[in-house]
Amino acid sequence: MAVLRTQKHFCTISALHEQFESDRTSSLTMKKKKAPIPSLQAGSYLIDSHCHLDMNSYEDDLDTLLNRAQAHGVRSIISIGIDEQSSIAAVTLAHKYPFVKATVGIHPHDVEQIDEGSYSRLKKLVLDNREQVVGYGEIGLDYVKNYSPKAIQLQSFEEQLSLAKELSLPVIIHDREAHEDCLSLLQNAAPFSQGGVMHCFSGDMKLAEKVLALGFYISIPGVVTFKNGLDLQEVASAIPLESMLLETDGPFLSPVPYRGKRNEPAYVAYTAHKIAELRGISIEEVAKQTSKNTLNLFQYSLDN
Ligand SMILES: [Zn+2]
Ligand SMILES: [Zn+2]
Repeated sequence: MAVLRTQKHFCTISALHEQFESDRTSSLTMKKKKAPIPSLQAGSYLIDSHCHLDMNSYEDDLDTLLNRAQAHGVRSIISIGIDEQSSIAAVTLAHKYPFVKATVGIHPHDVEQIDEGSYSRLKKLVLDNREQVVGYGEIGLDYVKNYSPKAIQLQSFEEQLSLAKELSLPVIIHDREAHEDCLSLLQNAAPFSQGGVMHCFSGDMKLAEKVLALGFYISIPGVVTFKNGLDLQEVASAIPLESMLLETDGPFLSPVPYRGKRNEPAYVAYTAHKIAELRGISIEEVAKQTSKNTLNLFQYSLDN
């Protein structure tokens, strides 16, 4: 079944830039061994709250990498929809793997493809798969790529925020260099009784405070491990742990030491490790609270 997709959805950093970084770092560190994936004490676990498991770079070894994630303490993964096809694929994966949950929605890159039937088809997908679908998104604004015209992005963002409310689902927000518009749309649409998350957070503390004021969570990606990820490091150090989620946004944005390479759910441990270091607490403490937050926002529980 054709559930795997191509990859034009770079959430925060361009493919070329990542490739460049990769080439540069690999030539510098050719003989250096990569730091192993940080381990957690028994009983402690992580959740990757945002990954694109249906993308085609996972096609050849999905089972292997899901096993690797579980072996490294990742007990659940949320596979995020970016258009109708990937929303269906995410739901299909959630049926196949009990530790995978799905979200549905149309990414700002793809909103130009929305037709008069799109929302009712997405709605049916949610209603037919309530157990699997835990959120609505990713939706939002992307002014870097502008794959879809700005006016259409703004309109469909509003429409999808109200659809999410109608379906009683928390929202997953993508905001790429569109902070001001994104925030004002969210403020106009507030309150969100089911809550939401600003995924792959790319703002500073000022924005973080406004996002927190909406009652939203802030999701920290692997960018926090980058040398130039200073704003994000500040945010990850300062926001309440009770408001934080962790994500890979795989296959994109791999944390150090895999920067520029394919990202995967097991690597969320590098992000947790970095946040623990920044905050001067244990990785288990980060894992425990962020997992609790994820289950709380997306309203599901883990068996056993
Ligand atoms: Zn995104
Ligand atoms: Zn994403």
